[in-house]
Amino acid sequence: MNINFEKASFKDFENIEGMDAYQRAGYFSEYLEYLRSRGHLNYRMESQSGCGPEVEMDIAGYGGKKSYVSLVSNDYLGFTQHEAVKKAAIEGIRRFGTGAGASPAIGGHFSFHEKLEQKISGFFGREAAITYTTGYTANSASLLCLLRKEDMAILDMAVHASVYEGCMNTNVKMFLHNNMDALERALRESQATHRTRIVVVDGVYSQDGDLAPLTKILELTRHFGAYLMVDDAHGVGVIGRTGRGLIQEHNLLKEVDIITGTFSKTFGHVGGYVVASPDLIQFLKYQSRQHLFSVTASPASMSILKAIDLIDEEPEWQDMLWENIIYFKNGLKELGLDIGTTASGIVPVKIRDIPKTLEVGRLLLKAGVYANPIMYPAVSKKDSRIRMSLMATHTRPHLDRVLNAFADISAKLKIGSRYE
Ligand code: PMP
Repeated sequence: MNINFEKASFKDFENIEGMDAYQRAGYFSEYLEYLRSRGHLNYRMESQSGCGPEVEMDIAGYGGKKSYVSLVSNDYLGFTQHEAVKKAAIEGIRRFGTGAGASPAIGGHFSFHEKLEQKISGFFGREAAITYTTGYTANSASLLCLLRKEDMAILDMAVHASVYEGCMNTNVKMFLHNNMDALERALRESQATHRTRIVVVDGVYSQDGDLAPLTKILELTRHFGAYLMVDDAHGVGVIGRTGRGLIQEHNLLKEVDIITGTFSKTFGHVGGYVVASPDLIQFLKYQSRQHLFSVTASPASMSILKAIDLIDEEPEWQDMLWENIIYFKNGLKELGLDIGTTASGIVPVKIRDIPKTLEVGRLLLKAGVYANPIMYPAVSKKDSRIRMSLMATHTRPHLDRVLNAFADISAKLKIGSRYE
């Protein structure tokens, strides 16, 4: 089998007929080398500083160690670098040591874990929560536990990969992204045939930064007797009058059956949560294998308790983020670039061609800007783009540097409505 490297994506190497795992890995190495030789392998880039609006990197062939404006971090409010958050992590390690040493059922459930579960459910005005060690597992493990072969997950096709993974024990029906007619059809058709049906949507979608029409989704879900799960990983801290995310914006915090999310973005650490009814949460605590048989989060995660408080104590970070979002989006639009339907801290610039997207990524780096080219399978082949996340701590000079780089690159590669 011969894959055309120029048109290929990582997906093409997942499973190749007639090649065993080692042969496939060897062939994939050839592809990575092909990308590297063209300066198009800007994944797993080694950053020598932490999350922030600027990062230090020493990229081979780019003139030694330099500072780049960074648009790759979902640390929307800059809390990974907030002194009070860092202090709380250090205090956690000082009091409890560096690791929890056991899974929650058999000794690894410490007082700060219990407090975190209470605090995150209280944050949403709800009664119960379970935490997982990643946001990915919060989705995948809870769905794996709740839905079986008699059941059905009804998914917006743009939901996160972790949701798809969670549906391996059950039946899946996907509906076109944000298409309410298609959702209604899926709900109606499965009404008599499946036992538990859970509609799963994101609040903010991670590639386009667009929003789910939650009020309509809940109305349909209720009408057809199903349950609703919303993963608002990118909405919390960014959207909502007091930063509770898109669900707050729709005034549905008490209504959504299952709220999931992550501690790795706005809350500046690592981990995930599921918020739902006390019975359902208790069921997960004793039945969800990835929670039951895996060690709990390290004491450094005490930082999350402080980060949750800061959403209310220092709302100015959310305001600063929005000033940046508005300024940056307007700048890109003035350049004639296609930023799609974003309404959040995620801003894509759609290039719609894989080699060109990779080249834009390379030229941005040359201009001192670090942003991610996103291609199939994360998005469809004709939907490749540069994806950027904004932070409250980006300054105007940072954003102007990025806009100037886009102005030069779009002229050079003829990208955007000015060149159509
Ligand atoms: N849900 C969504 C919508 C995400 O974008 C992500 C991470 N990119 C996750 C879940 C997983 O979260 P984590 O990285 O904290 O595991």
